[in-house]
Amino acid sequence: MNKPRAFVKDGKFHIPTAEELGFDPVEMRRKYDFERDRRLRPDGATQYQDIDGDLHHYNDDPYITERIEREPLQESIEVAILGGGFGGMLIAARLERAGIRDFRVIERAGDFGGTWYWNRYPGAQCDVESYIYLPLLDETGYMPAFKYSLQPEIYAHAQRIGRHFDLYPRACFQTQVRELRWDDAAARWIVTSDRGDVFRARHVVISSGSLNRPKLPGIPGIRDFKGHTFHTSRWDYAYTGGSVEGNLHKLADKRVGIIGTGATAIQAIPHLGNTAGHLYVFQRTPSSVDERRNRPTDPAWWTTLQPGWQQARNDNFTKLLVGVSVEEDLVNDGWTELFKSLGELLDNSGAMNLTEAELKLLGEIVDYQHDNRVRARCDEIVRDSKTAGALKHWYRPWCKRPCFNDEYLPTFNKPNVTLVDTGGKGIDRLTENGVVVDGVEYALDCLIFATGFEVSRATYTHQAELDIIGRDGRKLGEYWANGMRTYHGLMSHGFPNLYHMGFTQTGYTPNFTYQLDKQAQHLAAVFTDVKKRGYAVLEPTLQAEEDYLNLVTAPNAMTDYLANCTPGYYNAEGAAKGNNDGFLQGHYPEGGLKFYEMLAEWRAKGDYAGLTVR
Ligand code: NDP
Repeated sequence: MNKPRAFVKDGKFHIPTAEELGFDPVEMRRKYDFERDRRLRPDGATQYQDIDGDLHHYNDDPYITERIEREPLQESIEVAILGGGFGGMLIAARLERAGIRDFRVIERAGDFGGTWYWNRYPGAQCDVESYIYLPLLDETGYMPAFKYSLQPEIYAHAQRIGRHFDLYPRACFQTQVRELRWDDAAARWIVTSDRGDVFRARHVVISSGSLNRPKLPGIPGIRDFKGHTFHTSRWDYAYTGGSVEGNLHKLADKRVGIIGTGATAIQAIPHLGNTAGHLYVFQRTPSSVDERRNRPTDPAWWTTLQPGWQQARNDNFTKLLVGVSVEEDLVNDGWTELFKSLGELLDNSGAMNLTEAELKLLGEIVDYQHDNRVRARCDEIVRDSKTAGALKHWYRPWCKRPCFNDEYLPTFNKPNVTLVDTGGKGIDRLTENGVVVDGVEYALDCLIFATGFEVSRATYTHQAELDIIGRDGRKLGEYWANGMRTYHGLMSHGFPNLYHMGFTQTGYTPNFTYQLDKQAQHLAAVFTDVKKRGYAVLEPTLQAEEDYLNLVTAPNAMTDYLANCTPGYYNAEGAAKGNNDGFLQGHYPEGGLKFYEMLAEWRAKGDYAGLTVR
């Protein structure tokens, strides 16, 4: 694995030379800048095609076998929860345990699971270790089969949580909330749905996901292709045959194209390559693909775990990712490896009084060493040198989601698989017959869009597909027209008793379920406390919101890092100049761990600082 090299000379720490490193960091930076610059586009984040109007079928649910028929509900409830993914389930489970039982979980899909309900493409797997990713393992007693879970296990676990905490009777599936309207006199939200339901809720928690609406490439001819198409998050197994485990046998006589080589495509491509008559992979920017090294869970180890182990393991992971030293790296994988390298280095360099510029250079060098090792895998595994070269990524590890997969690179050695590299430009257009790149048409029977999701809170109403009308008729879509404005990432001025779960403006860590559970625990504790005290309304003051916004959007090291990255949704397709651009739209400067400590301290004080309470 990656170890920082050449930082110690004659027993002393020193900044290594290009000769010692085997590469020149200045040249490397030049190459990265060149590769970024040739991907920058004037249309930036507006380049994509959304799936409204006649493209709306890309958002349809292909997994529902039967429509649920039911009468509309009219209910007064304590909490309405929008979204039945892990966020919604965690707040429901935490409320259940706190004794607050009159809540509803309202979910558009046909079951719990959220991301893992929708993303059933072949090979779908979670990159974060199952022992920390799958929530409530302690409580449900479930032992994941592998260190990294495939989708069926994660989806089944969501259902297990639903049963364990008795959430099914309080779930409204196949139901979409259309409007939230604040009734100030009654101090309640009026929640209306496409099923004619009217819920009058004291609190509303929204956990509708950040990567929920598929997007398509904004290219000419998107409607012209006459073959079969679908988006990876709505996989059409009726057409491909097979399942998440693969065996897409109906593709054996088909010419299949896939656009995109992000974290999703990396996992699906090996299965397509196994069975498609011919597979064309259309690449704009390669992913960095490191080893997966999955392994079955050792049952003997499992029996040694003591109550509270999952929280401790999660804290250990999160600490490492924010540069806090730990005695033992419990997760010990590709995620922690990267952070450890820099962390160890900085520990060792502590006595050196390095300047900011030197520290920055060290960070770059560690990243380049890591990237070199990952790029070397392309040459080791892929036999055709041109293809191997095209599969190498030229951007720093956190510019895009790092990928881990053992089958992806070998797929390009198969005679039925062709990488069509577009040199950073993307495909030219679609025709009736297929895809055009550099004037060459690739005729296809089926085209799969692995082109990701709308990820921007600036178009919140569009993304959430609902309108939120707060105090004095203020619309959230308008209030957030220039970006998300929150207090603690959770609440907004003018929208009392409304809470948003997610990563934006909170304390970021790659393990989303860790964040969601911390937020769920926080909100469940707040709801319990306000009930006890008899508070009816909580709302952040404008001043508190502004102060918090200034804190989370102030420039920091990550801002600088992302601004220099290759375009992607992390940096608003290369447009990010400050911490208020891109998908994070601000985050707590001290990271995930400190953010949740801050929330715990806020609760412990009990003065509801920053909120008006009535
Ligand atoms: P992404 O947005 O990451 O990838 C979209 C892909 O489509 C990119 O390769 C992009 O290229 C390509 N693309 C877009 N437009 C064009 C075009 N005009 N021509 C050619 N290519 C184009 O979406 P994903 O679904 O892959 O992943 C989304 C997120 O989901 C990840 O970042 C991750 O957070 C999460 N995820 C997590 C997994 C896990 O294991 N936990 C697994 C899968 C996904 P370019 O890079 O140049 O923009």
